[in-house]
Amino acid sequence: MNEADLQALAQLLDGFGLACSLVDADGQPLLANRQAAQLQAQRRPGARPAALRLSDGRRLLLAEGDRRPANDGAEVRFRLLAEHSMDLIVAVDADLAIRYASPATRTLLGCEPADLHGHTLAELLVPEERAAFIARHFTKAAQRGAGPDLFRTLRRDGGTRWVEARVAPLPPGNGLGDYLVTMRDAEQRRRTEEQLGQVNAELSALASTDALTGLPNRRVFDATLNKEWFRALRDAQPLALMMIDVDRFKSLNDLFGHQMGDAFLALVGKVIRDNVRRAGDMATRYGGEEFAVVLPGTSATGALEIAEIIRRAVAAADTRPIIEGGYPISVSIGVAATVPLAGGGAAALVHSADAALYQAKRNGRNRVEILH
Ligand code: GH3
Ligand code: MG
Ligand code: MG
Repeated sequence: MNEADLQALAQLLDGFGLACSLVDADGQPLLANRQAAQLQAQRRPGARPAALRLSDGRRLLLAEGDRRPANDGAEVRFRLLAEHSMDLIVAVDADLAIRYASPATRTLLGCEPADLHGHTLAELLVPEERAAFIARHFTKAAQRGAGPDLFRTLRRDGGTRWVEARVAPLPPGNGLGDYLVTMRDAEQRRRTEEQLGQVNAELSALASTDALTGLPNRRVFDATLNKEWFRALRDAQPLALMMIDVDRFKSLNDLFGHQMGDAFLALVGKVIRDNVRRAGDMATRYGGEEFAVVLPGTSATGALEIAEIIRRAVAAADTRPIIEGGYPISVSIGVAATVPLAGGGAAALVHSADAALYQAKRNGRNRVEILH
């Protein structure tokens, strides 16, 4: 057999998935077909090797190579990458049956990759999130570029672990599967996000609360009044507003100092809050020594009643814990109520309550007034 014949034979055997190499009498390689080169690269001798001694002493070595399709090189490379990834890499069929799972199965799911055979991708997740996961990643809408998101996997020990999942469709005939799914541990990210959410909630509470009285601040008052005005307009319901101002507070400050003044203000705030109890009602610190109370669904009569209760409660408040022997305090209250009309706004209600408050001051303080 000459050199050309041997080359042709080796190529032919390639097609049968057989590794064919030619060595000289000393075992030095002279020729190797693709399958043989591949086995050498993988340092595998090949199963069931057979040797054919030629008349000139050269030997033709034949071994069973890999019978898988020509893209095996790519698959080997893929497996090498997957085996060393901290992410869990899963290849699945179109029906989401698991075809391959990387070793990160152990850390992420607490079981062996082989345990996943015969299971579907959805079964890796907690039951209540399976439908959402499939909708997110395996529907037409999802394939228009949805990014990673967080889901909880079900661990062998019964626990769960947050993972960030990515799904990529694979080209047909790749030998791996129809989708490649990457799951990255997202416990830390989840914890950070939760902490951030908490901090944000605390910040937003701080930004909307008055520190001295603990009541919602002016910002919240503006937003609430506006919202309630439009709601009352829509429902054709009355809306009432009270503006409350501490009487002669300046002299109280002058007498006892600003810090004592603060303590009196905090007390007035508490008395108001304690007497505005119906759900939907909102007592706020409007600014300085003024408070405002929004009363949705309340007519003038109802608002006047509540205002009178507050006025009396402040006048009767025990101030002895603040100052030895106590000191009398009182508030003046302006009330306004309306059934909103289209084209108007909450500002007119504030104006009206303010004017009523001014009248209460003019008429001697420690009074409730409403404009007619
Ligand atoms: P009137 O009965 O007319 O309301 O008299 P008044 O003294 O209460 O009215 P005025 O507006 O002249 O004074 C309000 C005072 O309230 C002035 C200001 O120093 C004081 N004040 C406003 N905010 C605070 C606060 O947060 N703490 C303290 N201690 N005082 C405040
Ligand atoms: Mg004032
Ligand atoms: Mg005042």
